Amino acid sequence: MKAVERSNKLDGVCYDIRGPVAREAKRMEEEGHRILKLNIGNPAPFGFEAPDEILKHVIHNLPTAQGYSDSQGIYPARVAVAQYYQQRGILGADADDVYIGNGVSELILMSLQALLNNGDEVLVPMPDYPLWTAAVNLAGGKAVHYLCDEQQDWLPALDDIKAKISKKTRALVLINPNNPTGAVYSADFLRQLLQIAREHKLVVLSDEIYDKVLYDGTEHVSTAALADDLVMLTFGGLSKNYRIAGFRIGWLFISGAKQAARQYIEGLNILASMRLCANVPCQHAVQTALGGYQSINELVVPGGRLYDQMDLAHKLVTEIDGISCMRPKGAMYLFPKIDLKKYRIQDDELFVLDFLRQHKVLLVHGRAFNWPEPDHFRIVTLPHKEQLTQAISRLGQFLQSYSQY
Ligand code: PLP
Repeated sequence: MKAVERSNKLDGVCYDIRGPVAREAKRMEEEGHRILKLNIGNPAPFGFEAPDEILKHVIHNLPTAQGYSDSQGIYPARVAVAQYYQQRGILGADADDVYIGNGVSELILMSLQALLNNGDEVLVPMPDYPLWTAAVNLAGGKAVHYLCDEQQDWLPALDDIKAKISKKTRALVLINPNNPTGAVYSADFLRQLLQIAREHKLVVLSDEIYDKVLYDGTEHVSTAALADDLVMLTFGGLSKNYRIAGFRIGWLFISGAKQAARQYIEGLNILASMRLCANVPCQHAVQTALGGYQSINELVVPGGRLYDQMDLAHKLVTEIDGISCMRPKGAMYLFPKIDLKKYRIQDDELFVLDFLRQHKVLLVHGRAFNWPEPDHFRIVTLPHKEQLTQAISRLGQFLQSYSQY
């Protein structure tokens, strides 16, 4: 039979967080090895449980949640999301502005499919959560990466953004709090980013899925609260703040210059109808989650698991000679830098693969986040302290004698 080739729509589309290194870890597990997996921001397997009332509400609604719902989502969920953004300063937020999806992932794909013509450019951070780059490319667009500057606490470099805007630029992607760097942007800084978007009539796509995972008193400002004259898309969800990534529930909220986006919204509606609706039983979690007690607040302060693990992992990793790392202000990752004058690494994917094979610890290499140099890797700070201590001490040992040339 003639070989079945993959579509060329997939050129430039990859998602290496679950790529070849993760597949090697799976193979090793099948051989009987125990792997310490510090590669995916999936809270449940690390013992973070969903608040009981969320489970109760979903179970309570199961018998009546057997049919499809409205394509944008069940009304109580959309009202709850709208009210959430009202409380965050977007007074006109309305249930009709909300799309509930099977995770933010689905909505990222839909929002770009509805926006981009072939060759349109989208400014995407570097490093990024790689779904953004992949989704732009899959939609026929071109991801143009702007630098987030490690020397400036990983803030987007405004000059680099300006320099990369062309006639084809349609949108600016922000990830705040940021995966993988842990940066969180202040209101003043966001205003500067918005001014660039305003001058060049860019749609702003703000991924705020970690907006409650904040450390050391950091506050999060919703970008959309700072501009009502631009087309603003805000993405949020239940996977991280409420530790229920497997429920696959996220939302997209449109605000600002909606009149100017009427055709775009019609396009989104077509795509939302084509996939019928998001998982209906789990849509019932949204109202309970957003309206009720916010147990995440206990986890992100000293004595709480997320805080203590982040604090310890950051301390241990920066104690390794030749490794530096910004202390994260939010999210659940570290993105340390390896001093390449000290360690001989040319290929960061090979580095994490060699570490996995020798020490049974799974990390993700920096280039999986579209970082251009082989000098970074990402650690997930979800494992218990004992596991983090073990993994990071193995990394320290490994580096002492590791050389690729
Ligand atoms: N956006 C960012 C920045 C993420 O880190 C993730 C998951 O890790 C997602 C979106 C996808 O989230 P969801 O589980 O809602 O699809």
